[in-house]
Amino acid sequence: MIYLDYAADTPAAREVLDVFSDTALRYAANPNSLHTPGRQAGARLAECTEQIKTLLNLKNSDVIYTSGATEANNLALKGVAEKYRNSGKHIIATYLEHSSVNGALAALQNSGFEIDYVDSGSDGLVDLEQLKALLRKDTILVSACYVDSEMGVTQKIHDIAAILSGYPGCRFHVDATQAVGKVPLSLDGADLFTFSPHKFYGLNGSGILIKKEELLLEPQIHGGLSATPYRSGTPALALAAACAKALELALAELAPRCEHVSGLNKKLRAALTKYPKVKINSTAYSVPHILSVSMPGVKTEDFRDELDAYGVCVSTRSACCAPNSVSRPVYAVTKDRKRAVSTLRVSLSHLTTEQDVDEFLACFEKCYDKFAG
Ligand code: PLP
Repeated sequence: MIYLDYAADTPAAREVLDVFSDTALRYAANPNSLHTPGRQAGARLAECTEQIKTLLNLKNSDVIYTSGATEANNLALKGVAEKYRNSGKHIIATYLEHSSVNGALAALQNSGFEIDYVDSGSDGLVDLEQLKALLRKDTILVSACYVDSEMGVTQKIHDIAAILSGYPGCRFHVDATQAVGKVPLSLDGADLFTFSPHKFYGLNGSGILIKKEELLLEPQIHGGLSATPYRSGTPALALAAACAKALELALAELAPRCEHVSGLNKKLRAALTKYPKVKINSTAYSVPHILSVSMPGVKTEDFRDELDAYGVCVSTRSACCAPNSVSRPVYAVTKDRKRAVSTLRVSLSHLTTEQDVDEFLACFEKCYDKFAG
């Protein structure tokens, strides 16, 4: 099998699984319990939290453990909006957001918030002039993804943060799920950001929301004591330890992994560009691990299924999108509906070999001849 869907999920690293099972076996107590094993588990959880903060160079920040970036994004957006609703009800987001951000925003809109979306240029970057024009005194939140999950465009987060610094009542949320553990990044200007270890060889079922200490959130899950007041439930210590380990490993190998994947990406781009019907959607600002293409007029669901029959796994778009839907990010950037309904996303890893790419290209050729030739 040739797996080229690493933006959707990555296989857990052996070391991460070892840390998970060691922690689960060694700390068989609730980290909130006040007996000795409970205190030991609590201390281990605090250690994991510190490790995550150190690895990400965070100061004066809270680490909130969730079940994934979907929950983390929901908590970030609804938590801020509901907490600060008396200061305003206006929110701005980009068109490139993941469905977990769009879904949370739709829910907020239903409960009386006003949502505006800021356009992107053909390079995928958010139109900063339009952002300035959309900002209002009652804007309480701006949400932008660091790297979008479909085309992999990296936003200029510092430029957005600089604009927002003129709006002290407005918080800045960054969905960094496709960036953390994948590319070098700086999140200094963000008030909150989210990520998910299963994107960088950690485990599914865990996600992280980082927020500045002084920022308050309205919890979305109520009930039992947890690691923070913002998300109830018994802290999942083994998942937290696995997350810290995955982050440690991914960051230690970031540069060589990026270099390897960049080489593969160049090769893929060069080969795919030769097909007349292929349009490359990823831009000069896209990360090396994501390559989105479109084939206007081709039913890329069939194309993907045929590749699958050859043992090659790619996505038509983000795995969280409804099947056969229009790609909102691709439409936002290309303004071309035919392109936005015919996308194919290839996503790479340090585990991907040149041979994988060659075999993918050989299968791609056969599928192209069948569906687009
Ligand atoms: N945000 C982005 C940009 C993503 O790519 C994803 C997953 O594809 C998510 C959020 C949701 O992450 P999770 O699977 O951890 O809920």
